[in-house]
Amino acid sequence: MARIFCIANQKGGVGKTTTTVNLAAGLGQIGQRVLVIDLDPQGNATMGSGVDKRGLKATVYDVLLGSVSVRDSRVRSDKAGYDVLGANRELAGAEIELVNLEQRDRRLKVALTPALDDYDFVLIDCPPSLSLLTLNGLNCAHGVIVPMQCEYFALEGLSDLVNTIKQVHANLNRDLQLIGLLRVMFDPRITLQQQVSDQLKAHFGDKVFNSMIPRNVRLAEAPSYGLPGVVFDPASRGAQAFVEFAQEMVERVKAL
Ligand code: ADP
Ligand code: MG
Repeated sequence: MARIFCIANQKGGVGKTTTTVNLAAGLGQIGQRVLVIDLDPQGNATMGSGVDKRGLKATVYDVLLGSVSVRDSRVRSDKAGYDVLGANRELAGAEIELVNLEQRDRRLKVALTPALDDYDFVLIDCPPSLSLLTLNGLNCAHGVIVPMQCEYFALEGLSDLVNTIKQVHANLNRDLQLIGLLRVMFDPRITLQQQVSDQLKAHFGDKVFNSMIPRNVRLAEAPSYGLPGVVFDPASRGAQAFVEFAQEMVERVKAL
C-alpha cells in the first residue's frame, strides 16, 4: 500500500515542484513505484515530468469532480520513470466548483484509495496556498514534506504551515504528520543560510532531513527539457542530492 506525501509550503517559488519531480525520479531510480499528483493549476509538475498539460484527456480536475477514476486519468512518463496525474489551468476553477459538492475536502482521498496498491509512494505537489485543493491533499496524506530556503522570513511562514498540519491532524486526518523540512537551494557559504539552518535544527531536531539540496543550475534548467533534474543530468550535484534524499525518505518511511 502506498505511502502518500504532500510537498507543501504556502509560499511560491520555494522549490515544491522541483522537490516533487526530483524526489519522484530519485525514488523511481531505486525501484519504487511512484505516482505524482499535480494539485497546482500551473501544471509545472506535469510539464516538468515530460507530460504536456495541454494534451491530457483527463486531469486531477476531473478526478476531483468525480467524473473519472485515478487509474483512467494517470499517464506514464517513461522518461521520468513514474506515473503522473496531471493538472492544467482548468484546476483553478475547481476551488469554486468543489464548494457545493459533498465531502469537498475529501474527494481526492476517496478517488485515490482504489489505486493505492499500484504504488509505493504517492507525491502530491501542492499549490502555494492553504486552500481547498491543498486540504484535499493533506486529507489523504500520511505526511508533509516542506521544502524551504534558509532565509529569515522562511521561519515566519513555517509556523502557519505547522499550525495547519496540527489542525488537520486534530480534526480531519489522524494519520497526518510533519515528516520533515528539506533545506533547498542551500548555499552553506552564505552565513545567514547557515544560521537559519542551525536554528531550524535547534527547533525541529530530527524533523530536519539530513539531506540538503544545493542551489544548482542544472535543476533549474531541467524543466525546460521536460525532465526532472535527476534524469536530465544525473551527475550534477543537485541530482545526486535528490537521489540521496530519496534514499533517506525510504528509510524514514520504514520508521513510520
Ligand atoms: P514552487 O513549486 O515552490 O513554486 P519551484 O520548484 O518551481 O518552486 O522552484 C522555483 C524556481 O527555483 C524554479 O525556477 C526552479 O527551477 C528553481 N529552483 C528550485 N530548486 C532549485 C535549486 N536547488 N537550485 C537552483 N534552482 C532551483
Ligand atoms: Mg510549483
